[in-house]
Amino acid sequence: MSQQEKELGIQRSISQIVDAKTTTEGDGFIVHRPFPNSEIREFDPFLLLDEMGPITLSPGDAKGASDHPHRGFETVTYVIKGAFEHKDSQGNSGKLFSGDVQWMTAGSGVVHSEMPEKDFAQKGGTLHGFQLWVNLPKKDKMIKPRYQDIVSKNIPIVKSSDGKVQVKVIAGESMGKHAVIDTKIPIMYLHFTIQPGGKIIQQIPKNYNAFAYVASGVGLFGLEQRNVNKEQAIFFERDGDEITIATPKDAMTPLEVILLGGIPINEPVKRYGPFVMNTDEELQQAISDYKNGKMGLIDF
Ligand code: FE
Repeated sequence: MSQQEKELGIQRSISQIVDAKTTTEGDGFIVHRPFPNSEIREFDPFLLLDEMGPITLSPGDAKGASDHPHRGFETVTYVIKGAFEHKDSQGNSGKLFSGDVQWMTAGSGVVHSEMPEKDFAQKGGTLHGFQLWVNLPKKDKMIKPRYQDIVSKNIPIVKSSDGKVQVKVIAGESMGKHAVIDTKIPIMYLHFTIQPGGKIIQQIPKNYNAFAYVASGVGLFGLEQRNVNKEQAIFFERDGDEITIATPKDAMTPLEVILLGGIPINEPVKRYGPFVMNTDEELQQAISDYKNGKMGLIDF
């Protein structure tokens, strides 16, 4: 490849644009879910994406997810607005406020609760966030659970020289900044805010699967400049090393988009609710371990 070709890069083409489906989770809060669904079971290494809100909650109306288990993968909670508190069967607890991220490696299993933070629940307010599920390779499915709680001020934010593009680097690298979060397999998790007239060409390693989700505004994606609207996800082919995101000419509002990428694990996926393993036997084992209390209890 010549130097010039290298600099130009190769644009990825679009494989699919899907509408998120609205469903309820946990104790009854509403989420927008681009997958899994009957058409897209997973997008290796990603198992699920939920957008929580944005919703304005009245005092006392906030709901969470009371005690439930996980085994075999990672849950990543990104609070854009609002506040959560969590507790788990290993004795961990903490709070997440606007801009904070929790990267939880469930590994061999934890029971945890994800509830609205007490003051926030009492007063009400705007809630907006994402939960992403990232699969673990077979060798890491039964590792010791691990938490990374990263407060907003420690997550790198970069602005383009024209000031029209801002990126929050949750995982991976963008505009020369590296994330502070350590991931088990290489993952890219970027939150772009693009002002009308802004454009970003994001490098993405050729071996990553990648998709994006539009939280607000309208985005133009790829060389085809396909329109993607709020509550839609766009999946890319693995045929290039760049993804272009811009705003339409008539855009009046900023575009909020999250871009996710990761190296496919290429292993069998057997899932049942909060357990994701490689075989049916391992799934049965997870269910019985949970029923027999082997993932613990929240007793504080
Ligand atoms: Fe959970």
